[in-house]
Amino acid sequence: MGIPHFLVIPFPTQGHLNPSMQFSHALAKNGCNITFLSTEFNHNKVLMLKAAAASSDHHQDNLLGSKIKLVSFPDGLDPEDERRDLQKLLFSIRNTMPSRLPKLIHEINALEGNNNNYITCIVVTINMGWAFEVGSSLGIKGALLWPASATSLTLCDSIHSFIDDGVVDSEYGLPVKTQKIQLSPDMPLMDPKDLPWCSLGKVYFEHLKQEIKTCKLSAQWWLCNTVYELEPVAFSSSPKLLPIGGPMLTSSDHNPTSFWEEDKTCLHWLDQQPSQSVIYVSFGSWSLLDQNQFTELALGLQLLNMPFLWVVRPGNDEKHAYPDGFMGCISNKGKIVGWAPQKMVLKHHAIACFISHCGWNSTVEGLHGGVPFLCWPFRNDQFVNKFFICEVWKAGLGLHKHENGVISRDEIKKKVEQLLGCEDIKARCLKWKEIVMESMEKEDSQSIRNFQNFIKWTKE
Ligand code: UDP
Repeated sequence: MGIPHFLVIPFPTQGHLNPSMQFSHALAKNGCNITFLSTEFNHNKVLMLKAAAASSDHHQDNLLGSKIKLVSFPDGLDPEDERRDLQKLLFSIRNTMPSRLPKLIHEINALEGNNNNYITCIVVTINMGWAFEVGSSLGIKGALLWPASATSLTLCDSIHSFIDDGVVDSEYGLPVKTQKIQLSPDMPLMDPKDLPWCSLGKVYFEHLKQEIKTCKLSAQWWLCNTVYELEPVAFSSSPKLLPIGGPMLTSSDHNPTSFWEEDKTCLHWLDQQPSQSVIYVSFGSWSLLDQNQFTELALGLQLLNMPFLWVVRPGNDEKHAYPDGFMGCISNKGKIVGWAPQKMVLKHHAIACFISHCGWNSTVEGLHGGVPFLCWPFRNDQFVNKFFICEVWKAGLGLHKHENGVISRDEIKKKVEQLLGCEDIKARCLKWKEIVMESMEKEDSQSIRNFQNFIKWTKE
């Protein structure tokens, strides 16, 4: 048996690409070879940011050392098409990419076969389950890399039980009753409207049910970027679930698959701020504020009169107008960047708290940094993550919307002050940080053992 060779196929959003690249780095560190398949659209975006290192051959680039090879397929959309339309992207990919995959695998195997370096395992993130069908027809093993919490996965895996128990309806997956649900007897009660699919509509709900079925059938392992201690109940639900957060978080401080250039000047700026003094505000790669909400947030930060680092993404939020006089008022206090080197920011001693949309990657990165959260979820699994942050780990507080649907400047000010005054929450965040660090550093940590057993399994 040669060196294991993984074909990693993430769904083309930032929240899937980053953990898939972290996973690939961790595999490469363990001596494995990886072919990383992106869509051409994203591949080119990432290459543009790495123009200095880019090769002219867009099909096969070797940017990350000889262990990780980048390849790409078209996603079937025109360059100017809206890729924020999840359904459009999903169906276009399904109509375009599967037919190309067998040829890619044959080419790799023909090229690498002499070194006994055939593709041994296909690893996909959710929505790319079609690749398992191709893999099974060629006798290649499969594993799912789940980019959200293990709990979200077990919730999705339980959709049929929720329907049978009358918790949600079968068409839209929306709550039928207001009665709260409990994931285990020692867990707090959860609102069924926080279930991960509730914000995504009928078509996606149907797709998700099918996708989970495919993953059940074809993916031997469900690998999760988490740590056992964070979600023990989820891991008692299925032996397929493997927490491998330790090796994934260790992989790199930098996200090589970022869609936007990281503005590293903020690290130097953070160096000049006192310890635990800065409010970090970031809503990930997808969530958007409307003008009204943008203004309230700006005014909330202004009212707080504390240093802040705010990510205002190019292209969307960037188009909003700041309140009159805001820039002048905050010039000594605030730093606004288009895209931050978030992993490094969250580990910086100057950060006091994280106003976050509670995307899973941001959640894990915040826990790793030991930073208290102010939760501002927008969609899918972010409500489950908020529930865990506030109710289960008690590592943060939630921001409440006014009845007009807006989180007011006063609410932002009040909650930041409450959070920063709460020594219990700060102490618990440090405890979670220690647990996450152990999973990364202790050689016999469960995450590290799981990861190595997973690699061993691909060699069998
Ligand atoms: N991120 C970053 N810089 C930023 C904001 C976010 O590098 O300014 C990264 C962050 O580290 C994480 C990813 O973007 O890896 C966002 O993923 P998450 O699951 O938190 O949210 P999503 O973008 O999927 O909503």
